[in-house]
Amino acid sequence: MLREVDVLIIGGGPAGVETYRALAALRRNKSLKIELVRREEKSIVPCGIPYTGVSVPLDRNVIPDARLGIRAAIDVVTEVDPDRGVARTAGGTTYKYRHLVLATGSVSTEPRFEGSDRAGIFKVVKDLEYLRRMWNYIRQARRVAVVGGGPVGIEFADELRRMEREVVLIELMPRLLPTAFDPEFGELARAQLVELDVDVRLGTAVVRALGEGRVEAVELGDGQRIPVDAVLWAAGMRPDTALAAAAGIKLGPTGAIAVDRRMETSHSGVYAVGDCAEKAHFITGRPVWFGSSSLAAHEARIAAGSILGLEWEGGGALCALITVVGDIALGRVGVTEEEARQAGIKVAVGKASAVDKHPPELPGARNILAKLIFNASDGGLIGAEVAAGKHGGEIINILAALVRRRATAREVYLGQFATQPWVTASPIAYPIIRAAENAIVTHGLR
Ligand SMILES: Cc1cc2nc3c(=O)[nH]c(=O)nc-3n(C[C@H](O)[C@H](O)[C@H](O)COP(=O)(O)OP(=O)(O)OC[C@H]3O[C@@H](n4cnc5c(N)ncnc54)[C@H](O)[C@@H]3O)c2cc1C
Repeated sequence: MLREVDVLIIGGGPAGVETYRALAALRRNKSLKIELVRREEKSIVPCGIPYTGVSVPLDRNVIPDARLGIRAAIDVVTEVDPDRGVARTAGGTTYKYRHLVLATGSVSTEPRFEGSDRAGIFKVVKDLEYLRRMWNYIRQARRVAVVGGGPVGIEFADELRRMEREVVLIELMPRLLPTAFDPEFGELARAQLVELDVDVRLGTAVVRALGEGRVEAVELGDGQRIPVDAVLWAAGMRPDTALAAAAGIKLGPTGAIAVDRRMETSHSGVYAVGDCAEKAHFITGRPVWFGSSSLAAHEARIAAGSILGLEWEGGGALCALITVVGDIALGRVGVTEEEARQAGIKVAVGKASAVDKHPPELPGARNILAKLIFNASDGGLIGAEVAAGKHGGEIINILAALVRRRATAREVYLGQFATQPWVTASPIAYPIIRAAENAIVTHGLR
């Protein structure tokens, strides 16, 4: 079957769906023909996956096509010919398109230890049936090892405790959240997990899975054996670039699809958005790969603008993320102090802690820790990290706007924020203001 469309979108995750939705919302020409092809009948909400053990039913954690006005063709694109503007599917459809959007996303890396083919060893797979099998297996398990102490690993550990499993979390690096946060924030995550009775093992790797047919134990680098009934590999995702690479579309140094500021690839009229696309870091300008639904959706809106001739340009990836463990939310944006130093940027750091209600005696009050990272040379805000109670996660989004403006310490200090006893810190102890003050006083910023 031959189908002619104006825009063909491959992928039904956040990037593909938001490209479709934005195109449909912004188009002036209502007859613009948009088609979205995705592999799965129902697309899972990827960020909700860790919570489908017990917090939300798996079948309810799906992207609501009808509510978003999405009509998807369920098929697998097997080949793209960007020179001829043609794509073919396993189901026998040949698409002729004017614009192509690659939103093929990311897949889990493979477990890097011996014996990983034993039953009871799972990866993070964005597929309902796989996850159903995984949770059914884990429901029969008493003790589960989670491998990987990044945001995904700690969110799974948290949910597994809610399911009353015994959990051991194993992280290769000597701290949790090693690539996303500075050490003091990783330590806060560790303390929360320990409070939840998670057995946290840092600076060690699983080298082998043991057991007859099904996993019965994991062996660590120092020879220690930990009896477990299931293992969840949560130690990394990678961009899915197979279609693009086979079509001769250029990949960047991170292995993801190279794009310009309009999200266009090496081939005119072909765009890549979301986890399959490489990003230029907003602060360092360096190529990075950063898996994030919110960034995927941002890129989707840029690509929609490019296709509609609006000539919007993204300024690069702010690399904002929030994760939650126990009662706290941890957020970051821009660069961490460690990332700034690695990029050769001289930093001036301001820190403050506050309580998220006022007076702090109000029930449910929690601490907030805010860290602002300024460029010592030009005084601009280049990064921020926050730990707060769950609703305080939005603080990082305020800071994302300030990093995007590269606000100076004085601009942050003189910023105006609303406060209210139940939902914010006090106006005279507001953590963002106090952290800016700390940077001004400590480093003489103006
Ligand atoms: C467990 C977990 C928790 C996360 N939590 C958060 C969070 O809290 N906040 C956040 O911002 N990010 C989070 N992320 C990251 C986020 O999920 C990803 O950044 C997001 O999924 C990227 O969206 P995407 O549309 O680019 O790719 P994907 O979600 O990977 O979607 C890719 C789509 O392409 C389809 N596809 C691929 N190849 C083909 C083909 N050949 N033919 C047809 N269809 C194809 C797939 O079937 C799928 O529909 C989390 C990720 C995981 C794994």
